Amino acid sequence: MVQEINKKLFNFIDHSPSGFHAVENLCAMLEDAGAERLSENRPWNLTPGKRYFVTRNGSSVLAFMVPQDYTGMLLVSAHSDSPTFRVKTGGEITVEKRYKKLNTEGYGGMILSTWFDRPLSLAGRAVVRTENGVETRLVHIDRDLLVIPSLAIHMSRGMDQKLNPQVDLLPLFGSADTDYKALIAEAAGAEKEDLLQSDVFLYPRQQCTVTGAAEEFILAPRLDDLQCAFAGMEAFLRAENPKKLTLCAVFDNEEVGSRTKQGADSTFLTDTVHRIMDALSIPETTWLQHMADSFMLSADNAHAVHPNYAGKCDETNRCYLNGGIVIKFSANQRYTTDAVSASVFAEICRRADVPVMYFHNRSDMPGGSTLGNIANAHLSLNTVDIGIPQLAMHSAVETAGAQDTAHMVNAMTAFFNTNLQMTEDGAYTF
Ligand code: ZN
Repeated sequence: MVQEINKKLFNFIDHSPSGFHAVENLCAMLEDAGAERLSENRPWNLTPGKRYFVTRNGSSVLAFMVPQDYTGMLLVSAHSDSPTFRVKTGGEITVEKRYKKLNTEGYGGMILSTWFDRPLSLAGRAVVRTENGVETRLVHIDRDLLVIPSLAIHMSRGMDQKLNPQVDLLPLFGSADTDYKALIAEAAGAEKEDLLQSDVFLYPRQQCTVTGAAEEFILAPRLDDLQCAFAGMEAFLRAENPKKLTLCAVFDNEEVGSRTKQGADSTFLTDTVHRIMDALSIPETTWLQHMADSFMLSADNAHAVHPNYAGKCDETNRCYLNGGIVIKFSANQRYTTDAVSASVFAEICRRADVPVMYFHNRSDMPGGSTLGNIANAHLSLNTVDIGIPQLAMHSAVETAGAQDTAHMVNAMTAFFNTNLQMTEDGAYTF
């Protein structure tokens, strides 16, 4: 039986073929729960006890609940983007007057081989000309549209297996007379001549599903990091903390280094916190003082032990699917976790009955990085890097444990409800 929470997660992922759609669906979750949409280019009037949200670029969203009595901030961050291919401007290539294929470039570090021989389609946003200027519209071609055919084994014997995205990975779109621009314009509800530009990405048509003899696992595209983005928003909406500013941040562009106006390495979070403090007339010294009592969960999926490659994980720190929340350490601080932040979070999990595991990379593997240390450069607070254990990270379709979405939602809800305080000598009470 699929758990209720996974059903909700599946619905979210299946309807979020691009980061723009993911953010739109997170906004819909917020609006359904009565949260009010704010605009960065309008004044904000905030009422204690109410939830609000603001987006930037349509691909990042910050949701927050204004407390009755502000004594610090509890923040969860995740990311909305996943590795994929972006269609280039002038995206059509005709082959021998017979085929039309699309010209794409990679976005982030995907496992290239996983994109072959499966139905794909297109989603993203289009910018169209209007009477007075330009307007952005979401586009989603909701049908099996494209395929990247692999080369027959009889023709590839002896070939170098290293895949070249400009040569090997261009998707077949149709016959030579197929019109890509007309298709995108139609999806945007615009005339072809009014379509100015688009940020359109490939996505695998695979729907989320449950696998395993006892339905132990889930198989889905974009689990990194939509699983944490969903869990963060779900927990944010379940929790109510009268003393803390609770905040759920879902940033775009983590997969390409976060250095965009809407990424974790932007002013989006600090700008928003400044405006909240300003709207509540909280003096800067007061909010800086309470930064010491503030805490962040940087949530991005983690690596579980792979059944076929068990040696790829650290010898003594083993994480498994359905084992609970992964707390990630890195001596070089690619993850922000330290003994204090790990202990505080593990205690919150213990009280909420959520199991935790610990992740270190093998010492001969650099591993990845994530949001925590990047966001900390702008807004520095105690942070722990966590994630849901998964396999096949950055594959077109990834695998995770069926129990762990619920674990993450429960842990994050408990976190958001915590009255975390630091004493003068640096101890924590909660
Ligand atoms: Zn990630």
